[in-house]
Parts: sequence; structure tokens; C-alpha cells
Amino acid sequence: MTFTVAIVGRPNVGKSTLFNRLVGKRLALVDDQPGVTRDRREGDAYLFDCRFKIIDTAGLEEAFDGSLEARMRRQTERAVEEADLVIMVIDARVGVMPIDEHFAKYLRRGKTPIALMANKCEGKVGEVGLLEAYSLGLGEPIPFSAEHGLGSSDLYDVIKEHMTRAVEASASSEIFETSEANHENEVELDDQGDFDDVDLSEDDFEDDEDNRGPLQLAIVGRPNVGKSTLINKLIDEDRLLTGPEAGITRDAISIEWEYRGKHLKLVDTAGLRRRSKIEDKVEKLSASDTIRALKYAQVVALVLDADGVLEKQDLTIARTVIDEGRALVIVVNKWDTCKDKDAVMQRVKDRLQTSLPQVKGIPVVTISALKGHKLNKMLDTVFDIYDVWNIRLPTAGLNRWLAELIERHPPPAPGGRRIKLKYITQARTRPPTFAISCSLPEDLPASYTRFLENNLRETFDMPGVPLRMHMKKGD
Ligand code: GDP
Ligand code: GDP
Repeated sequence: MTFTVAIVGRPNVGKSTLFNRLVGKRLALVDDQPGVTRDRREGDAYLFDCRFKIIDTAGLEEAFDGSLEARMRRQTERAVEEADLVIMVIDARVGVMPIDEHFAKYLRRGKTPIALMANKCEGKVGEVGLLEAYSLGLGEPIPFSAEHGLGSSDLYDVIKEHMTRAVEASASSEIFETSEANHENEVELDDQGDFDDVDLSEDDFEDDEDNRGPLQLAIVGRPNVGKSTLINKLIDEDRLLTGPEAGITRDAISIEWEYRGKHLKLVDTAGLRRRSKIEDKVEKLSASDTIRALKYAQVVALVLDADGVLEKQDLTIARTVIDEGRALVIVVNKWDTCKDKDAVMQRVKDRLQTSLPQVKGIPVVTISALKGHKLNKMLDTVFDIYDVWNIRLPTAGLNRWLAELIERHPPPAPGGRRIKLKYITQARTRPPTFAISCSLPEDLPASYTRFLENNLRETFDMPGVPLRMHMKKGD
């Protein structure tokens, strides 16, 4: 499936400039004269690790006669037809024009997801337009400057989110189709009381372990918590080292080594950057830093200072990690100078419980980066959670679990209508993602889904990793 993004907006807002930036080539013409782009353009766009097809609809402006409105309508209709995501661009320096409003209204009525971009946002002039943009009712505008290349990480967030959703939706429906075929057998075999033989899927995944490649770990945390100290300690320790090759790839800085016979790669860490370039400590850990680190990481170690654990900013990072489906390890550093260890641990546990209740069992390790204490424990924990994140559960076992669970705790019957849950299958790993066929997915209360999730996590021993559960319409 190629994810397709279409750019729409009135002339001169910067659509072609945006297109060029995303495609990385000077494919489209850019000019101060409105409507200079002659053809509709399509290109392969990339933004960090996202690859997608992009359509610049600016060309349509010329292709159709008639009023600006008529041209924009044609342009927009086409885009909406073909795209998985439409980016509506406005010019933040000019602000919202009546024609922008008109088309926002039109777009809001459709089914295609819309993202709003306030372009030309560099400098102060764009601020008013950015605020005005909210009035279009298309959600939070992405502040951007296509000309200066600002705002990529906000744009990335939005595109990634829509892509992930699209992929998840198609993955679970595809897998469901195959698994439903399996279940036809299951019904027959079930009559003979034989459930186990039905699992056809396991063999396919036997070699997963070998094919995984190095575990990619990111070390994140607020300034001064000890990230650089930790990283330096990890890579300077002889026993860990098989030849450190700190290299700068196109987007990320990484170091690879072997730990207990397993490959480990430390990716994109602000701390690594600082090794070569001494910066001052005013640097803030922004959401975009975390996102950047996450792109390359499978496991994220969130480093905290024992002196002030899980402040608001830490929790925001933790939540981002989980929302992005990565495995999280909480690393409480400076344990050597921590006075009231019990109180600190208690606080960590309480905060995780209240702020991330959906993920039970997030591992917490205490270390001293400075003294090199418990670093092995930390790495063992990282590899353990990685295994859970990669877990592949057999369909037969899952279905047995589901059957037993609904026997004991049947789903509620809102308005007297019984909701039937039939089959479950693991649609994906990393993170573990499950699809359940449900007779009335919209009516199933979220609390029951959470109950299923918690029970699944406990039964199959999957602590600390995000789980995904999709209800698919089925009889
Ligand atoms: P289109 O008609 O929507 O495709 O707009 P273009 O991409 O052709 O851009 C129209 C004009 O706006 C050109 O002069 C661009 O250089 C300028 N432009 C595009 N993006 C930005 C931006 O982020 N900031 C500023 N100041 N100008 C921009
Ligand atoms: P970063 O900004 O997260 O990379 O933090 P640094 O690695 O630069 O560490 C900030 C300060 O904390 C430095 O003065 C370190 O020496 C100190 N520090 C780091 N780890 C420890 C530790 O385990 N124990 C103690 N007592 N101090 C530490």
C-alpha cells in the first residue's frame, strides 16, 4: 500500500515549495506569480523515516478554466478521491481568506483525513495567521515554513500518525482474512475437541529471532540526568566493546556493539552529539527530540535523576514512547547519592500507575552511571523487554484464552443486545497487536477492551510493553 498525501490550497500559499521540499528535487516550478506550476505533480516524498507519494495539486489550477473557486473545487475533489491524507495549506502571513474558509468547510464534510498547515510561519508575521487557522475547524494547524524548512518534525508527527493508522487498519484486515480462513477449519476440528492442530501460523515466524538485527536503543531524558555519563560509561567499558564505531549516518548518530553475544545499537542520542560538540546545558528536551530518537529506536531508556523522578516532562516523554508503540525502560540514575531509596521507588511506581495505567509492569532499574553500577542489569532489562515486544503468540492459544475468558466474564449486553467476540489473532508484533472479531465493535465498551487487554497481558506474561487491540466487525 502506498500512502498518498495530497497538498491543496489556494494559489501562492506555498504548495509547490512544500512539494519540492518533501520530494527533495526541484521538480515543480516555483514563482511569485500565482498559478505558475503547469502540471499536476506527483513524487516520492520522504520525511525522516516516512516514505509516501505526494500529489501537488497546484497544477490543476491552470488545467481548468473558470473561476478560482471552480478550479479549486476540481483540484480538491481529485485530491480527496486519491489521497489517504489531504494537507490543506494556508498562508500564515496573509491569514485566513474567505476562500480558505469555503474549502475548509468542503473538506470537513468528507471522509478523507485532513491536516491543516499554516505555511510561511517563519518570524513573527505568521503568528496571527497561525492563530486564525484554528477557526477553520480542521484541528491544530501545523506551523511550517516550506521556504526555510522549519516545522518538519511537527509535520512528521502528523503524517506518521496517519500512516500508522492506515497501516494498522490494513494489516489487521489482511491478517484477519487469512485467520478467518483458518477458523473455518477450526470449527470442524473443534467438534472433535481438537483446538491445537489448527494453528498454521507459527512456523512462519520461527526464524524471527535471527532476522531481527541489532536491538536499537535510544537513551533519552531531561538535561543533567546523566545521559552522557551513562553513554560514555557503556561504550568505554572494555567488556562491552567490540570496536566502537561512532558514525554519523544521514539522519542519526549511532554506535553498535555486542553485549553477551547480542547486538546492540545506540541510536540518535543528544548525549552522543555532545561528545563531539560541547554545548551548554540550556538545551531543552523537546518533544521533537524524543520523536527523533524514537524513529530509530525499538527500546527507549528514559533516564531520570533520583533527585526528581517522573516530573511532568518525564511523564510526557514516557507517554510518547508508549503511544509510539515502543518498549520503555525507566532508568533511575544517581542512585549512589540517593538518600531515601524506598521513597523514590515508591514515587516512581505511584506515578507510573496513575499516569500510564494502561501499561502495567514497565520495568524500572536503578543505576549509577558515574560509578558504573548496575549497568549490566539495565542492559539485561532492555533485552528482556525487547523479547516481550517481539513476542508472537500462537492463534490456538489465544483463542482458547478468549473462549475461557468470555465464558467467565461475558461482554456486556447493552440494550439487551449480546455482543459476540469470536476469534482473536495476533496481527503484528513490535508492539504486540491483536485483532478480535466482534459482532458489534462500536457497542463494546472501552472498559471491556481494557479488561481484555489487562487479562491478556497477565495471562501471556507481557509486562511493560504497549499492546494494541483492534475490534473487527464479524458475526
Ligand atoms: P503555490 O502556488 O501554492 O504552489 O505556491 P508556491 O510554492 O509557488 O509559493 C508561492 C510563493 O510563496 C513563492 O514566492 C515562494 O517562494 C513563497 N513561499 C513558499 N513558502 C514560503 C515560506 O515558508 N515562507 C515565505 N516567506 N515564503 C514562502
Ligand atoms: P546529561 O545532560 O543527561 O547528559 O547529563 P550528564 O551526563 O552531563 O550528567 C550531569 C551531571 O550529573 C554531571 O555532573 C555528572 O557527573 C553527574 N552524574 C551523572 N551520573 C551520575 C551518577 O550516577 N551519580 C552521580 N552522583 N552523579 C552523576
